[in-house]
Formats: sequence, C-alpha cells, structure tokens
Amino acid sequence: MNLEFSKHELEFKKEVQTFLKKELTSELVEAAKRSSAVFTEKEIAMEWQAKLAKKGWLVPSWPEEYGGTNWTETQKYIFSSECARAEAPSLTPMGLGMIGPLLLGKGTKEQKDYYIPRIISGEDYWCQGYSEPGAGSDLASLKCKAERKGDKYIINGSKIWTTHAHLANKIFCLVRTENSQKKQEGITFLMVDMKQPGIKVEPILTIAKDHDFNQVVFENAEASISDRIGEEGEGWAVAKYLLEFERGGVANEAEKLLTRIKFIKKLVKIISAQKKDSDFDSLYRKKISELEIKGESIKFTVLRALSSFEKGKSPGPESSIMKTLATELEQEISDISLEVIDYYGMPFQDTGLRTNESAIGDEAFRPVAGKYQNLRATSIYGGSNEIQRNIIAKAVLGI
Ligand SMILES: Cc1cc2nc3c(=O)[nH]c(=O)nc-3n(C[C@H](O)[C@H](O)[C@H](O)COP(=O)(O)OP(=O)(O)OC[C@H]3O[C@@H](n4cnc5c(N)ncnc54)[C@H](O)[C@@H]3O)c2cc1C
Repeated sequence: MNLEFSKHELEFKKEVQTFLKKELTSELVEAAKRSSAVFTEKEIAMEWQAKLAKKGWLVPSWPEEYGGTNWTETQKYIFSSECARAEAPSLTPMGLGMIGPLLLGKGTKEQKDYYIPRIISGEDYWCQGYSEPGAGSDLASLKCKAERKGDKYIINGSKIWTTHAHLANKIFCLVRTENSQKKQEGITFLMVDMKQPGIKVEPILTIAKDHDFNQVVFENAEASISDRIGEEGEGWAVAKYLLEFERGGVANEAEKLLTRIKFIKKLVKIISAQKKDSDFDSLYRKKISELEIKGESIKFTVLRALSSFEKGKSPGPESSIMKTLATELEQEISDISLEVIDYYGMPFQDTGLRTNESAIGDEAFRPVAGKYQNLRATSIYGGSNEIQRNIIAKAVLGI
C-alpha cells in the first residue's frame, strides 16, 4: 500500500489549487459557510457548479463523451479533498450524484443524450421521490401508484421528505405499477416533470426553520413511458443500483470533517478571548485532538480504499463502515461546536442568504445551532445508521 502521491499527482494538486484560488471567491465560501441547511442553498451550489462545468471538472467520474475527465481515482481524491480544504460549496447531489450516474449506467442513449447535458448545465434541477409517509427504511412498502394509459403513466399518491422539491423542475420516483406478493416486485422507476397541474408541493420546515424538504402530492400527474428507466416492474433493481452512488459520496467527506474541526478551534479562540480564561482553551484542546484522531482515521481509511481501487480491487466493506463513522463524527463535531458557543446558541439566528439581521455574538456563531439541529438528519437520510449497521452485520460480520 502506497499512501504517498507521485510527482505527477503533486503537480496535479498544484493545478487544482491554482484553479481554486482563481475561481472560488471568498463570497462563495462565506455564503456556503453561513448556511445551516444540510444541503447547500441552490443559488450557491449552482454558481459553483457553473464554474466547474466551464472548466470541465464538474463530473470527473463520468465517461469523457458525457463530460468526464478521465482522471485516476487518486486525482479524483486530490480534487475533492482540495475543494473541501478550500471550503468550496457542496454540489447538490440529486442530479450530479444520483440520476446522472444512474442514466449513464441504465438509461437509453436517447435519455442520456437528452438529460445529461441538462444536468451539467443546471437546466434541469432534480429531486428524489423515494420515501413516502408509510415507507422510509422499509422503502419497498411504497404505495404511490402509476397506471399505464397509452404511452403515459398516470400517477397518484404522495412522497415525503423530498429535498428541494420546491426548487426542482424534475423528480425521479419509485412508483407501484403492480401489487405483487413480493413487495420488491411491481415497482417502476420514472422521471417526472414537476411543472404540471397534477403535482403539488407542500413545504416542511426543519427544526432549524430551514425549508429543505417537502411533501409532494400527485393527483393524476403524468409521465411519459419514454421517461421510465429500466423495465416496468423492475424499479427495485434500478433503485439498488442508484443507492451505490448515494453511499459512495461519503469517501470525499473526510477532508470536510477535518475542516469543520478546524472551525471549532476558531470558535474556541473567540470564546476564550472573551472569557480571558486559558483553562477553557486547554479543556477543548483535548476534545479537539480526539475529534482530529477520528477524522484522520477516516481519511486514512479512505486512502487505503483508494490504494485498493488503483489496484483494480472493489472498495470492500470500508464504504459502509465509513458512512456510519463519518456521519457520527459529523454530529459529534456539531455537538462540541454548540457546547463551545454555549448561550450564543440559544437565540434563533437567521442563516438565510438574504437576511439583514446581524449575528448575535461573532458572525462565526450564526450557523452553529442550526447546523447542530439539521445535522441530526445525517444519520437518518440515505439509509439510517441503524440500517447501515444491519448491512455491516450481514455483509461484514456474517451474522
Ligand atoms: C434531511 C433529510 C432529507 C431527506 N431527503 C429525502 C429525499 O430527498 N428523498 C427521499 O425520498 N427521502 C428523503 N429523506 C427520507 C429518508 O430517506 C428517510 O427518512 C429514511 O429512509 C428513514 O425513513 P423514515 O424517516 O420513514 O424512518 P423509519 O423507517 O420509520 O425509521 C424510524 C427509526 O427506526 C429505525 N429502523 C427502521 N427499520 C429498522 C430496522 N430494520 N432495524 C433497525 N432499526 C430500524 C430507523 O433507523 C429510525 O431510527 C430525507 C430524510 C432527511 C432526514
């Protein structure tokens, strides 16, 4: 296992750093930092997306004919960790990280040629319609129904927790096209236009008062059969394929976690200067070191997995374990950040981009409480950590 970068890789790292210095403005960085929402605000994410698309670095893993870079796994790692270190905004995953890779793997040529350029340009902004009021962890219990009428499906039912549905013009959905004995059968994967009379979007606010997700209600909404991915009734296999991409994103999180730990140091510095108390500083030095050890361990596990990738091996069980470890560390970081700012975390601080409200205490305190609240979600979405542990128990421990 070789964890050192080669000369060529170090040159590439410099090239990435030069690009980030030029294109990643402090306004973009500050706007992304200020938000407490789990997903980056659309405006910020799309501005950064447009810059990456212009450079040709938006979708490194995709085939070159669809915008990919043909980088090695190590180059991709260098790129994403440099972006995280420079505190670049996270990109919205539903298009670039989910439906895009799915279309490339399972879509028809017509679907790819039509949708892929629109995902890259941002013309289509996607949301994910999987969960329903009675179907979350047990997703296969979904009931939202689609009936075939000629060359269309007519959809009735509802989806919930649909992130950014209020901002999206497209939704990809799992719908029931047949009631089979086995609930995983009779599910179909459809791409649906959000801008039609049969779709209503009802907001749900998070505990931190952010409008991230929604309930989406379908009343005789329509989708064309040409917008189905895979065969009718075979949507479960399509959904499982997509899940691999949803989980894979965690590999790039290690550097982001380390950046967030650095942010605690900043908070401690501000508070200890106010308190004029050197004990405060030493109390948190220990806690921060423990977080750093956990962050570095995740980072080296990522690098170890990369070393296997480069030798053509599959990532193995590390990715499932890392998802659980990374989200738990993320929550722990937010717990300690809130503990540091203490009563500055108590008043509601508006983190919206357009607010004129000045921050209570230091500007750095503004998103801390909201982040703490919103980040409870990381161990729930994309398959809860309990479900991840079930997978680890079965696939790794064989129990
Ligand atoms: C911020 C956020 C954004 C989201 N965005 C989207 C989105 O865009 N699109 C979408 O479709 N969905 C989205 N979701 C929904 C998410 O996928 C579900 O919340 C998740 O799958 C859990 O389902 P549930 O909420 O119904 O909880 P439940 O499935 O009811 O689970 C409740 C609790 O029971 C535990 N549990 C359930 N089954 C088991 C089991 N077999 N073994 C052990 N423990 C179990 C769970 O871990 C959890 O703690 C989002 C959720 C959040 C929090």
